[in-house]
Amino acid sequence: MSGALLQEPPPSQVLDTVDWSQAGDEAAGLLSEYLRVDTFNPPGNETRGAEFLAAVLASQGIPSSISEYAPGRGSLMARLPGNGQEPPLCLLSHIDVVPAESGGWPAHKGPLSGTIDDEGLIWGRGALDMKSMGAIETMTMLLAAREKIPLKRDLVLLAVADEEVSNAGMKHIIREHWDQIGCSHVINEGGLGIRDLFFEDQTFYAISVGEKGVLWVRMIASGEPGHGSTPIPGQATERLIAAVNKLQKRRARPHFLPSMLESLRQAGIHHGGIPGAVLRSPALVRLLLRGRLMADPLTRAAVTNTVNVTGFGGAAEPNVVGGEAWANLDCRLLPGTRPQDMLDELKATVDDPNVRFQVIQSHEAAQSPRDDPLYQALARNVVQGQPRAVAGPVISVGFTDSILLRPLGVHAYGLEPFAVTREEAATMHGNDERISTANITRGLQVLYRTVLDVAADPKGQWLPPKGVPASPPPAHERAATPATPEGADTPATPEGADTPEGAATPATPEAADTPATPEGADTPSPPPASSGAEQPQEPSPREQ
Ligand SMILES: [Zn+2]
Repeated sequence: MSGALLQEPPPSQVLDTVDWSQAGDEAAGLLSEYLRVDTFNPPGNETRGAEFLAAVLASQGIPSSISEYAPGRGSLMARLPGNGQEPPLCLLSHIDVVPAESGGWPAHKGPLSGTIDDEGLIWGRGALDMKSMGAIETMTMLLAAREKIPLKRDLVLLAVADEEVSNAGMKHIIREHWDQIGCSHVINEGGLGIRDLFFEDQTFYAISVGEKGVLWVRMIASGEPGHGSTPIPGQATERLIAAVNKLQKRRARPHFLPSMLESLRQAGIHHGGIPGAVLRSPALVRLLLRGRLMADPLTRAAVTNTVNVTGFGGAAEPNVVGGEAWANLDCRLLPGTRPQDMLDELKATVDDPNVRFQVIQSHEAAQSPRDDPLYQALARNVVQGQPRAVAGPVISVGFTDSILLRPLGVHAYGLEPFAVTREEAATMHGNDERISTANITRGLQVLYRTVLDVAADPKGQWLPPKGVPASPPPAHERAATPATPEGADTPATPEGADTPEGAATPATPEAADTPATPEGADTPSPPPASSGAEQPQEPSPREQ
């Protein structure tokens, strides 16, 4: 244990010499302009956003390339070379945003305005989901280049198309470019800091370490077609109604995932009093919070396998009994339940040979480990200087592009290092999406320091950017910036297999410096589970 005391300080403590007020202003300006680039999806037009980011990078001499999976649907890749001691680290974001109508927004603060108002709020679709993250990731690349940070691993910036609709951008990148990108670790969206989540005055930073699995199925009932005037037992619609009723009566059992227990424990450690003591004890959490977690739809989704009937279809005419009628089901699965397990459960629950299930899409839940240097660095840096903040792991109920990367062995962590209220978080995909310049400045600082901690080598040597991609680009791809002559550059990913595990950091997420507050401090009531304990696992609308 005492060996830990001999560890060297994190590289960020040695290498961070950035003027943060200036860098924050620059990032806010960058975001403001990025928000003005129309990348509503549909139709997407992400190449516009990619070209914008490419120009920003080029201004610092960082070359990049854009790869399109369809005309106008481009994703951007850029790379700062390291010495190859460890596999590359990827800063991932999506360029597309969900559509917005300016009608519901304040005047001059519309979805494509990028307005920075008198209160220092930056307005626009994507201010949270997730052009803000794209902006601070791009700034992190600029700063690392400007500060000539010696890197022990390549730093890759990846901004992809079509996350919001069908993940086609990321799928294309994986198909065409992943060999070249070769990242072992990814920082992406998926988690966020929510103010006053468990306790008043306590900001909880949810770091998404995994995502629930997905099973989308069409449940199709069949029967004899006929005339609407004469109901006949066994017709398709009747079978479908019976099947849906059985699914509605299905009772799901709660599962307390280790990640959830750990997050509650972290919140409890920093709170103290009886509520804190309850949260610190898995047994008490199971005993006392079970009912409340199950009573709130948001938290229930975090602790159960859910089956949601999301749509119906059948004959179009009111006087026709169709031979088939169907319902769409969106099932979300906790780690440990495979899509096939859920399919079996659906069949057993419905128990009707005239009802069949057609799988539309399925992914198994996947998680990345918590005892990983990148997770540790995120958890440490995001609470630094905020004595009333804690960080903890969550399994997101929705999914992001990370769900495509974890099966490749990539350790992916979702954290937008911003602190917002629950109300502000709800503006993602809603009206009035905005973020404060203070959040941008601090978020940039957190991200930059995290990157230094896992990618910088204080004793190493700065290697100037040489240009990507390493091999001649395919025909559909073009250099976005006059990159250096092709060829040679990026060092093949170093052997050393997959994860640079076991580095330095202790097992529990830091944040550990603030002692638990003296007894009974503020909130004497039990932990407000129903008011959102576990909100972090909530279906944040930015995910699918
Ligand atoms: Zn998003």
